[in-house]
Formats: sequence, structure tokens, C-alpha cells
Amino acid sequence: MDTKLTSLDQFKSWAKENGFIFPSSEIYGGFQAVYDFGHYGYLLKENIKNLWQKAMWQERDDVVSLDSGIFMHPKTWEASGHVGGFSDVLVEDKKTHKRYRADHLIEEFLDSNSEFEIQNSKFDEEIVTALEKKDMDKIAPEKLAIIIQELGVKSPDGNDLAEPRNFNLLVKSNLGTTDATFNEENVTYLRGETCQGIYLNYKNVLDNLRVKVPFGIAQVGKAFRNEIVARQFVFRTREFEQMELQYFIHPDMNDEVYAMWKEERINWYTNVLGIDKASLKFRPHEKLIFYAKAAEDVTYNFNSMGKFDEIEGIHARSDYDLSQHAKFSGQKLDYFDQEKGERYTPWIVEASCGLNRLVMMVIDHFWENEKIDDSGDEKRDYRTVLRLPKNLAPIKVAILPLSKKEDLQNKAHEVKKMLQSDYMTEYDETASIGKRYRRQDEIGTPYCVTIDFETLEDNAVTIRDRDSMQQERVKVDELKDYFSEKFS
Ligand code: ATP
Repeated sequence: MDTKLTSLDQFKSWAKENGFIFPSSEIYGGFQAVYDFGHYGYLLKENIKNLWQKAMWQERDDVVSLDSGIFMHPKTWEASGHVGGFSDVLVEDKKTHKRYRADHLIEEFLDSNSEFEIQNSKFDEEIVTALEKKDMDKIAPEKLAIIIQELGVKSPDGNDLAEPRNFNLLVKSNLGTTDATFNEENVTYLRGETCQGIYLNYKNVLDNLRVKVPFGIAQVGKAFRNEIVARQFVFRTREFEQMELQYFIHPDMNDEVYAMWKEERINWYTNVLGIDKASLKFRPHEKLIFYAKAAEDVTYNFNSMGKFDEIEGIHARSDYDLSQHAKFSGQKLDYFDQEKGERYTPWIVEASCGLNRLVMMVIDHFWENEKIDDSGDEKRDYRTVLRLPKNLAPIKVAILPLSKKEDLQNKAHEVKKMLQSDYMTEYDETASIGKRYRRQDEIGTPYCVTIDFETLEDNAVTIRDRDSMQQERVKVDELKDYFSEKFS
């Protein structure tokens, strides 16, 4: 039996069956690339979010929070370059009409056909380099068309492909218009990234929150992208949560601040979320966009995908964002350093991660099928345990009366009441105690408290530890102190 999650299908079923993540709109046959978070998934997501917020603005003096709207003035997306350039290149299977990302199809083709012919009079230098590097990122649709044609790339179903074309990822809305007045000119967009709301509030924060460069604005919120290929569970969805920090600096500080945030963020993953260092890797961008000074992805080695993939981007963006919005809005978005008497447009270093991907990462990392017996019966010999660090666990303490006898139920409710103002607890009286322990192991609950018949005599309960499976007897009167030490 595999000890780790080995596929996204397995991950998806596990997440659904255990109340973490549900596919959207299932009763209507499903709705592609959107997922809903169930009780445990939501609690886990909130725990990660809270830890990020704590690291961003509670434990620092130089970062403030923000909660900007999902809708912004349409000019925002022109200034940011999203209306013109935020697109993927798509190809359609001529037979099934399914759409795929052209770059992905070609890269997959190259991976499985090591002997492809690179000498071709139709290939220019850019195509040859892209083929050698097996990296089709930023290659124009016309050139992707040549590659598909010349190498004979087919759809995953083996069919011919239509001409590749650009597909804008911004999601449109008709906010503020009626059917009669709605047209391409007055379209508003659901935000494709949360950071634009930060740039638009730079001046408000500067003028009203007594900040001085260097300072950061951080926010968590939903973003929407019309992703074409979204078959990677919650790794790539059309609606997702981002956690973004934009840190405003003097241009001279760029290298130092970029290095500082790389270190801060990797330490957060290892020290706060408990991810092994070996499972994380920086991946520098092959090609920098023209205004960027540096760009790297933090990647995590997903067991369920069998590869490292991006969880966060750390980018040195120069003065591009503020300059663009200054240009399009006609407003001054600069900074005056009173001590030095210097006026300049701040540069930005950003650390931008996807909350859904982090939920996926921590489950992927801490999920384990552990061998605990040798009877030959797989069900008995293995338990699934989610070894989440305690601060991430959705449920901290489960309260389990040994039987459904009324006096045990009453005592269990009394214990729950005592603990629930400090910890997220759960009461469960269904199934055998062994099964209930397994269920709590599987959702990552660090401690189970069992109320048995002896409890009624000695006012003590049995506490079972998720990881060691050791049990100990603790007086009910001492429970609060016991857990406050365990969770400290
Ligand atoms: P990718 O290359 O995977 O499409 P990206 O480079 O476009 O991602 P950014 O625009 O830098 O991503 O967004 C920052 C972070 O937001 C990413 O590192 C990722 O964690 C998250 N993210 C981006 N797109 C999605 C999505 N469709 N679903 C879930 N999370 C996403």
C-alpha cells in the first residue's frame, strides 16, 4: 500500500469523503474548475490564512492590511496590461472540440517524443530555443501553430488540432449596466489578482496610515481567472483565494529586499507550516518580463502530482505598477522622502501565493498511510493519519463518549462546553470507539478525549494522542491546563 497520496483522483475522492473539499454544483452534474470547501477544509484554510496574516502584519511593524473590492474601475486592467496581454494560447481538438493550452500540449509532446526533429526550415531561432528548452511560455500563437503543424502534435484523444488563438483570462461582468446598455466598452471585470486593489490604494494608505517607505500592504481575497485547462483539482481553479504582499521600497533597496522576502517566505513554510525544506525549491523564471528585475517561484514537491509545482511567486516588479496606474489615472503615485528631500516612484517587491494551493500542499505533505499492524488484513494494518501541525488542525480536540448512555452523553457535553471556547472541538458518538479514533486521525485531530463509565466515578477521561496513539488518564478538572500546555 502506498504511504502517500499518489494521484489527484485519489486526493479528490479523499477530500470529498472526509468533508474537506467538494466539487461545485454536483447536484446539477458539476461545474468545472470550481470547488467548495467543507467544514474541515474551510477550517484548515482559515488556519493557514490566519498564520499568514500573523506573519505579515501582526509580527511586523512595516506591513498594513487591506480588504479591497473584487470590482475595480475597468481602466485598472488596461493599466495593468491584463486586458491586452493576460491571455493563454488555446487550441481546440477539431473532433471533440475540447480546448487545451497549446504550450502544455507541445511540452507534453516533447516529453514523450525525445527524438523529435529540430532541424526545420520553418523553425526560427526563437522556436529552436523554445524546443531545446522544452519551454513554450510566451511563444506567440503563430509560432505555436508552426510547431504543432511541423511536429504533428495531436490532441490527447489523437485528433487534429485547430489554429491556436489567444484567450483572455479575465472574467467579464455586466456590473452597473442593463442588458440594453451593456457592451464591450463598459464591461467590468472580476479581479484577476488581488494586488491591483493594493496599487489603487497606495495613495490612501500613504496619506492616511502614517507609513514610510519601506512598507508593505498585504491582503487576502478572491481572484477569478478564466483558466482554460483546470483539471488539477484545487491547484488551478477559476475562482480562488490569493494572499498577496506588495512591499514598497526605494529602488536602491531592491536586491536586499528581494533576498529578505525570499528568506522570510521560505522560513514561513518550514517553521510555521512545518513543510520539510527538501520538499521546497525556488524556481527562477526562465524569461523575465521586460519590467521585472527578478522573479522566482516557490515550488513544492506534490506527492499527488509527482512533481514540483508553483505555490508562490516572489517578484521584483520595479516601478511598473505605480507608474502604469499614474499614467492611466493622471494621478501622482510617487513618494517624497522628507529626510533626504528626494521624490521618486517606489519600486515593488511582491510575494504572492494561492491559499487553495497551500491547503492542497499541507494535506499532500502531512497525509500518510501508516502501517500499524501485521495481521494481513489491510484495513486493520493501516491507518490514514493527517499529521498536521497542531496549529493547522481543523479540529483540535474530539470529545467521544464511549457509548450512547445518557449519563455519558451528558458528561461528554459538559467536557465539550468546558473546552470549546478555547479550541475548535467536535462531539462524536457514532460507530465504535476504534472507528471514531480512525476518523479523527484521518482529519488530523491531535487529541481525542474519551468519556467512559469510570469517568462517572473518578471524574477523569482518557486522552489519546494522534501521532503516538498513546493514551493517558487526566482529571476533568485538569483538562484546561493540560491542553493549554499541549497547544502552547
Ligand atoms: P501559474 O503559472 O500556475 O498559472 P501564475 O504564475 O499565473 O500561476 P500568479 O499570477 O503569480 O500565478 O499568482 C500568484 C499565485 O496565485 C500563484 O503562485 C498560485 O499559488 C496562485 N494561483 C494563480 N492562479 C491560480 C489558479 N487558477 N488557481 C489557484 N491558484 C492560483
